[in-house]
Amino acid sequence: MISICCSIVKHQNVLARVHGRLFSQNWGLLQKEQSQNHENIVPGPRPLTELSEDELVMKETVKKLAVEQIGPYVRKMEKEGQIQQSVLDMLFQNGIMGIEISEKFGGSGCNFMTSILAVEEISKVDPSVAILVDIQNTLVNSVITKLGTEEQRNKYLPKLATNTASSFCLTEPTSGSDAFALKTIAKKDGSDYIINGTKMWISNSDIAGIFLVMANVNPAAGYKGITCFIVERDTPGLTIGKKESKLGLCASGTCVVNFDNVRVPEKSILGEVGKGYRIAAGFLNEGRVGIAAQMLGIAQGCFDATLPYTLERSQFGKSIFSFQSMQHQIAQVATQIECARLLTYNAARLVESGQPFLKQASMAKYFAAEVAQMTTIKCIDWMGGVGFSKDFIQEKFYRDCKIGSIYEGTTNMQLNTIAKQIEKEYSK
Ligand SMILES: Cc1cc2nc3c(=O)[nH]c(=O)nc-3n(C[C@H](O)[C@H](O)[C@H](O)COP(=O)(O)OP(=O)(O)OC[C@H]3O[C@@H](n4cnc5c(N)ncnc54)[C@H](O)[C@@H]3O)c2cc1C
Repeated sequence: MISICCSIVKHQNVLARVHGRLFSQNWGLLQKEQSQNHENIVPGPRPLTELSEDELVMKETVKKLAVEQIGPYVRKMEKEGQIQQSVLDMLFQNGIMGIEISEKFGGSGCNFMTSILAVEEISKVDPSVAILVDIQNTLVNSVITKLGTEEQRNKYLPKLATNTASSFCLTEPTSGSDAFALKTIAKKDGSDYIINGTKMWISNSDIAGIFLVMANVNPAAGYKGITCFIVERDTPGLTIGKKESKLGLCASGTCVVNFDNVRVPEKSILGEVGKGYRIAAGFLNEGRVGIAAQMLGIAQGCFDATLPYTLERSQFGKSIFSFQSMQHQIAQVATQIECARLLTYNAARLVESGQPFLKQASMAKYFAAEVAQMTTIKCIDWMGGVGFSKDFIQEKFYRDCKIGSIYEGTTNMQLNTIAKQIEKEYSK
């Protein structure tokens, strides 16, 4: 038995167990690949794409689960506009909804990089499922773990790890990029707060049981009145509107969430009164690395689905891959995907190591979203007419990736952040 930070147990080279969950793995093959990678290595800084053993096991496990247990339902879920219950159950049963939550709360006890790898692998199969996993792990679980009181952690982390999906409620009809202009109010009433307002575009709100809600307790103080509340779905006055009809991510439920005199106790405040703006700004920076991983997964998934076709499809008596103009485009796209991966993994490692990562997270999200768009467009072109057909997955990736330049901060907002950091660096 080997115990490392993600406490993985290996049996007879074929099984991997992460926190009590048994995964069928070709562990011998993984070890062989790793040891081949490690032959002739010299001590020193490691390549960004090198993963620890536990990261590798989770990545391979999630990959297998995504292909086998999400793959068959992708089009059905898209058509029905919802995540299938068996998929949701599978995510909870395999610890994928509580990747960084400690074992003592029923989570998988893994690191941030593992969440990023899981989002990437699931996005290769279904980006709608990936956004569910992403928001749960990189936003909600993370905020409650880091800022929750002991009572809040004891109450909510076991649910989030094992059976309850969640939403992050910041955006409103009149405040998107200008998030701190939000109008939802939380008025103190004795030892309670009464929340009134409307949140819009809230991912996973169709199935969420726990909502992190940004509301202003003191509008006169401007953004310094913004406070984060944990609100449970069955709280009277909380209602979920109809699902938005969207270009992509159709299986992901995106709804308006209304708060009509929603009474919550003071102890539902997450972090400090008036510090919600820090949660909105700070944790969304981490969340952006997750969106970069989602875009990276879409680009890689689409590329992987397309390359075999270019090798098999024959025109003018040879494979379309063999034309140099095709090869150059394919090489350019592969290079762009690799760049997006390096930016994303670097931002993830910075998050983990506690170093500043604001600029790198924005760069990763901005660039990976561009790469996903460019890759999916190219893949459709390389497929010719069939790329335009709904019989193939490329058109879905093309629609699903458009959101990458919009949510968790538009591309313009990422470029603003990057430029601000550059200005600071050069004004020293
Ligand atoms: C499918 C989907 C899921 C979402 N999920 C969630 C969720 O779970 N939780 C949540 O809180 N929100 C969510 N959102 C909301 C999302 O984060 C916002 O849509 C996004 O931040 C942009 O805000 P907006 O739509 O109001 O656009 P606006 O802010 O109105 O922006 C419109 C355009 O103006 C540009 N712009 C605005 N300000 C500036 C500026 N200062 N400089 C340059 N350009 C600027 C923008 O870049 C953009 O091109 C989701 C949205 C979608 C579509």
